[in-house]
Amino acid sequence: MPELPEAETIGRALNRAMTGRTITRVEVFTPAMREPLTPLLSARLEGRKIVDVRRRGRYVVAELSDGRALLMHFGMSGVVRVETADTPRRKHEHVFLHLDDGRIFRFECTRRFSMLKVCELSAPGGFPAELDMLGVEPLTPEFDGDYFYLKSRGRTGNVKCFLMDNAIVCGIGNIYATETLHAAGISPLRPAGKLTKKECARIAEEAKRILSRAIELGGSSISDFLNVDGSEGKFGQELAVYGRAGKMCPRCGKRIETVRLGGRSSAYCPGCQK
Ligand code: ZN
Repeated sequence: MPELPEAETIGRALNRAMTGRTITRVEVFTPAMREPLTPLLSARLEGRKIVDVRRRGRYVVAELSDGRALLMHFGMSGVVRVETADTPRRKHEHVFLHLDDGRIFRFECTRRFSMLKVCELSAPGGFPAELDMLGVEPLTPEFDGDYFYLKSRGRTGNVKCFLMDNAIVCGIGNIYATETLHAAGISPLRPAGKLTKKECARIAEEAKRILSRAIELGGSSISDFLNVDGSEGKFGQELAVYGRAGKMCPRCGKRIETVRLGGRSSAYCPGCQK
């Protein structure tokens, strides 16, 4: 599932490809993904210009010239492309937005857990109310050790699930929580409320470092994620523990193990994550 670095990569690519373009025609081939798609047909998108594309959490927002926005989420397997009209429609492409330069924004999603819908923006440059539930962005100064420490007090659940709680800090899922805790040397099993201030500071620092590095490399192409141009992100090659159960820890040489946390398999190194 795309996490923050993948959504950032998609958002930047869409910003380059679509900002300044005007939507000329809308085609919907499937009634719904996670939410209905047919409302796009009557939303009067034709003639609207895309004035900016930006990310919040794992969502991408394309701001329109009339104060509305297209809100996107890529579910488990969403892929968006901006291509010329001569590529035939792929089987799982559900929506086409034709642009005034002759290209088409195309949304593909095999499992239909993705989302594309029209929303009102609170203000130009802002975000729709649908995203009000999201916590702080991990790459902003608001997210630091003190914030993580204060928010985690009294929390008896494990730190891995806490780090993946989008209402606390948004955009971090299984891949980047796993890698962050390994880099910080903290076991995913630890109760969040028992972390020290120093440990919270290490988590915040490592999360920022790893997410920034992953953005530099265009994200991780795990499962079905592809960049807008069809290329794969390169961060997958730098993963230290995620997807490496049974292999040697690159830091201490012990065998990487897995544990079930919050219903998902979680890799960690019992040698250097305490
Ligand atoms: Zn280790």
